[in-house]
Amino acid sequence: MRSRPVVVVIEDDPAIADLVELYLRREGYRVHQAGDAEAGLRTVEQRRPALVILDVGLPGPQDGIDVCRAIRAASDLPIVMLTARDDEVDRILGLEMGADDYVVKPFSARELMVRVKNILRRAAGPAAARRRILDMPGDVAVDLDRREARRAGTPVALTSREFDLLAFLAGHRGLALSRRQLLDGVWGAGWVGDERTVDVHVGQLRRKLGGELQLATVWGVGYRLD
Ligand code: CA
Repeated sequence: MRSRPVVVVIEDDPAIADLVELYLRREGYRVHQAGDAEAGLRTVEQRRPALVILDVGLPGPQDGIDVCRAIRAASDLPIVMLTARDDEVDRILGLEMGADDYVVKPFSARELMVRVKNILRRAAGPAAARRRILDMPGDVAVDLDRREARRAGTPVALTSREFDLLAFLAGHRGLALSRRQLLDGVWGAGWVGDERTVDVHVGQLRRKLGGELQLATVWGVGYRLD
């Protein structure tokens, strides 16, 4: 039997950290808290979590953005950011740093749990029996079982959300998909947030996979992978 997944919560406000921990424990996760960037990175290294919940505003020389960048430089560990600043720049910055999702304070702990569960369910990948590799023009391949994208045979480092988006597009090749359809299919039907989140992730896929990826913008609609 698999042990319960570990979640590391990096948040300096104990009231928020304790509330999040309470909800996570109720859902069956093991939880470790850290109150600043340095402790957070150490805890992640020691505890090998399945997911990190990370506050943007942390005390000390490094904030949550630095922590996100440091984690992302080494792994595609799922990261959900907490932010107190309800403006688009910070939110998109979080996504550009490779976070998988975010919630804006004050947030509902219930909503946060939905996001955590969705991300972990996707990260677990499809059943082994359904191993599939989708080949696309431009020498791009999507290996659904290994959760790996390859460009000319070389693996490309994607965040788990970027991979999910690519896999969803690859599963609907030739179809123009609206941002709402992509949010429902990739982020989950209950996801609440800005549709421009899709644009940020598409930009990342284009940047990482380059001209090899035949991903067209369909004006007034969304995107289509050919
Ligand atoms: Ca804080």
